[in-house]
Amino acid sequence: MQENSVVFEIKGPDYSKLKKFERQHKKCPCGSAFDKMSYSFNPTSLGIAITVKCSCGQTLHLGNFMDMDDKEYDENAYKPLTPDDLKNKEFEELAHQILLMEDPRYFAIGFGTKLRFDPMYYYAVGLAAYGDERISRAILYKQSLNEMHSYVQNYDESSSDEEKIKIFFEHFKAKIREEVKKYNCENVKLLEQLKEE
Ligand SMILES: [Zn+2]
Repeated sequence: MQENSVVFEIKGPDYSKLKKFERQHKKCPCGSAFDKMSYSFNPTSLGIAITVKCSCGQTLHLGNFMDMDDKEYDENAYKPLTPDDLKNKEFEELAHQILLMEDPRYFAIGFGTKLRFDPMYYYAVGLAAYGDERISRAILYKQSLNEMHSYVQNYDESSSDEEKIKIFFEHFKAKIREEVKKYNCENVKLLEQLKEE
């Protein structure tokens, strides 16, 4: 090895997982084996986290990172993604991100202020604008059009931030729950957030 180089390697149990992943994704779009997979190596204080991403959108996590070494290769978790799977995956990530804001501690870390309705609302609306349409359908907008094509206010301006936040998330969760029931959603983080109390 040359002095002035950095070399990352995939070896041992990781190497056999990678080979299984490659075999499972042989038929994925994107012709040659060279541009099909992308690799990222992230040194962290816990070890090197390795992410392998196939052109279909599926990812494989490797590395001596948080005891990942011990886990067996789970064929079902790494199956090739269809365009619909990928769309659902992106939808789930976005819904998860919005639902994180319900936690005042998380909000305080992200926004540097205590949880307030307006910044939370506009952040969610901003994410919805570029994301899956199921997200924007789940948002209770400040104003919406009724069947008579006149505007209705969905929040009582005199109510507290706390109440408005509660109304927003109750509505959002109910709509997202309906959506994830339409297919086999396996996103544990999101399903956990959607659990009814
Ligand atoms: Zn693939």
